[in-house]
Amino acid sequence: MPETSPRPAPPEPAADTRTGPLTGPRGARSVGIVGAGQLARMMLGPAIELDLTTIVLATDPAESAAAVAARVRPGRHDDEQAVRDLAADVEVITFDHEHVPTEILERIQREGTTAVRPGPAALVHAQDKLVMRERLSALGHPCPRWWRISTGDDLAAALETAGGRLVVKTPRGGYDAHGVRIIEQADQAEDWLAEHGELLAEELVPFTRELSAQVARRPGGEATAYPVVQSVQKDGVCYEVVAPAPGIDHSAQQRIQALALAIAEDLDVTGMLAVELFETPEGEVLVNELAMRPHNTGHWSMDGAVTGQFEQHLRAVADQPLGSTAPLAPTAVMVNLLGGTAEDLAPGAHAALAADPALKIHLYGKSVRPGRKIGHVTLIGEDAADLLARAHRAERLIVDGPESLTDPLTPGEPR
Ligand code: ADP
Repeated sequence: MPETSPRPAPPEPAADTRTGPLTGPRGARSVGIVGAGQLARMMLGPAIELDLTTIVLATDPAESAAAVAARVRPGRHDDEQAVRDLAADVEVITFDHEHVPTEILERIQREGTTAVRPGPAALVHAQDKLVMRERLSALGHPCPRWWRISTGDDLAAALETAGGRLVVKTPRGGYDAHGVRIIEQADQAEDWLAEHGELLAEELVPFTRELSAQVARRPGGEATAYPVVQSVQKDGVCYEVVAPAPGIDHSAQQRIQALALAIAEDLDVTGMLAVELFETPEGEVLVNELAMRPHNTGHWSMDGAVTGQFEQHLRAVADQPLGSTAPLAPTAVMVNLLGGTAEDLAPGAHAALAADPALKIHLYGKSVRPGRKIGHVTLIGEDAADLLARAHRAERLIVDGPESLTDPLTPGEPR
């Protein structure tokens, strides 16, 4: 069994990476969170520590955050009155997901009594992939080759230019690769074209790996970047993250952080911004998509950085000074818990904690369905391979139950 690892020696304290003015004498004290998934849930702990009052807008009282929040308001994110009523009771509203209709947020913002962070003009770039591609390309930020598709002829022409294969995406509403298809013939996306009117088509990037760069930005422009991470997807769902990305050199990291900070500033983002990236065989990066909220690829920071992304998001949207993003150890890993065969996660979690005292488990209080994100685990230390093996072992114990491993206390191969 792994020894109780002493906390690894922290790296040298990082320089203060915050840029821009440190403004605002007080910051907001109350935050409304639209949506009650696990991201809203994970904001609640830091909100308590910061003594911020939070109200969660939930469609269902059994949702991940609604089940544990002190103040929950029933209502849908696309019901204007529900979002307005939430806004009326707080100084700032922010989001668990990006699906609130832009027009609702524009009207609330115009009235000027409650701040909307990120604001609708920024958020639309995380809501609509065509808007995002158009804007990032106009700003000169690196993107895959892409085409706006309005007709079958557009699709046929793009297929020909791209060499016979395209990644086609619905502009809105996609998540975890629902809304992404690889096609080789125009008729393979006709149903989507009829349904959505317009599609985004992109070249199929032969990426070597996927990276993610997270930054936080306050309304006055103060901003800070986290280490760039590597993420691995399983069936289109984020599965494993290593921070920092293995083998990434200092200058590449700085270049990518500068890109994410520039995007945050260009789009006037407030709160956390995740820039999902493809690393190309030439060592360049191309922007895949943007998320303007805490992101799965940043969960490692809850246990691996001085300031976790959920605390940082709240500090940013409440216009309070940002925290240090310095890592607590040379490496951090995060492995998602995706629903497996165990319906009750408690016995496996118990066994995993017994097997590895350095392990951190985050459960979302969601019912188990195969492949559904129900939690994650993190570990920090020196060696990514060792940390990943231990994290995957814990994952297996939790999602498939302690009986899934013959000897839960002996480290073994990750599955
Ligand atoms: P979602 O909004 O559902 O997360 P993404 O646009 O991030 O959709 O795409 C999901 C996954 O599909 C990506 O993580 C990547 O693995 C793959 N993918 C998306 N776009 C491309 C592309 N242009 N080339 C190659 N793979 C892609």
